[in-house]
Amino acid sequence: MEHPENNAEYKGLTVNSGVEQPSIINPYLSRKKFRRRVYTVAEMVEGIIKGDVTILSQAVTLVESVNPDHQSKAQEVIEKCLPYSGKSIRVGISGVPGAGKSTSIDMFGCHVLDTYHGKLAVLAIDPSSERSKGSILGDKTRMEKLSTRPEAFIRPSPTAGSLGGVARKTRETIILCEAAGYDKIFVETVGVGQSETACHSMVDFFLLIQLAGTGDELQGIKRGIMEIADGIIINKCDGNNVDKCHMAATNFRNALHFFPKSESGWMPKVLCYSGFYGLGIKEVWDMVYEYIDFVKQNGYFNYRRNEQSKYWMYETINEHLRNSFYNNEAVAAKLKDAENTVLGGVQTSFAAAGQLLDMYYEQLRKQG
Ligand code: GDP
Repeated sequence: MEHPENNAEYKGLTVNSGVEQPSIINPYLSRKKFRRRVYTVAEMVEGIIKGDVTILSQAVTLVESVNPDHQSKAQEVIEKCLPYSGKSIRVGISGVPGAGKSTSIDMFGCHVLDTYHGKLAVLAIDPSSERSKGSILGDKTRMEKLSTRPEAFIRPSPTAGSLGGVARKTRETIILCEAAGYDKIFVETVGVGQSETACHSMVDFFLLIQLAGTGDELQGIKRGIMEIADGIIINKCDGNNVDKCHMAATNFRNALHFFPKSESGWMPKVLCYSGFYGLGIKEVWDMVYEYIDFVKQNGYFNYRRNEQSKYWMYETINEHLRNSFYNNEAVAAKLKDAENTVLGGVQTSFAAAGQLLDMYYEQLRKQG
């Protein structure tokens, strides 16, 4: 193209013609396709048991996949890893966004590895991640110190499916991590909604991070969460926030007296700490380990794990039945009409549900 600037009138403003860019900088890359090696079930199990992080990550990806082939392969791997699992302590860590979960987990993780050694896996249950299409929890970049340690495996929350589905995947990932020799598991969750109940159903100790300073911390926190917490820890106990934190701790301690005694016989403790400045971290973990010793001695540790296994068996059945029902084509086609008849007052909710279920059973009979 002829540029008007090249005219002699505009001397000094010449425009050079562009330079052609090479199509690819490294020609070898265009020829060689880098494909991730696909491992067989036996290779995966062997790799996991040896503690190979690459294979462990691939197995977790299989667990999280929605592809039915991947799912059945994942189930085989999990089943074979099951005998090698269970030898860990599992701690749930919950708190509202901004409570300081990532800052604390970074500190807690380093403390636990320095003090008790072994290996740590940080997993997450984040029901909001499906909406945001990206996981908020368990992100490596949020845990700067921990993510550089070779003994730590940090995995973001699975994103697909319902809360139940996300939680089940996290639970299955725990099995794989334990088989890979991770003897400390942290499960992080947001302290809103039902996710902490799901988290509670897979951990030995449930730690609730709270903040002081709002004055209404006791009103703002749901009774349900207080009941499942084995320890309440008040973060950001530093600077001019120290008095407020101690006051909040006293309020929590008083409130806990009104709750029925927990099944384990353990009286939940309330502690203040600062995740950012690393104050009071040792006391938090002394408490967790004191609890583990306590419940191992009185038999509650194994009892709770067995109850959790039972819970997950029923949860899995429920999820399969629900999916089978809602994914049934005949049911899916009639669902909206049934909803409208209920909303229009033509049918009761029970009659509409009954009709849909009858139709579903009829379909099953035909298929079978
Ligand atoms: P999360 O959303 O629960 O994971 O919270 P973050 O760990 O991202 O922390 C939220 C904010 O609180 C960040 O700006 C942190 O720097 C700050 N924070 C976390 N822990 C402490 C603490 O112990 N003291 C103080 N003063 N700030 C903290």
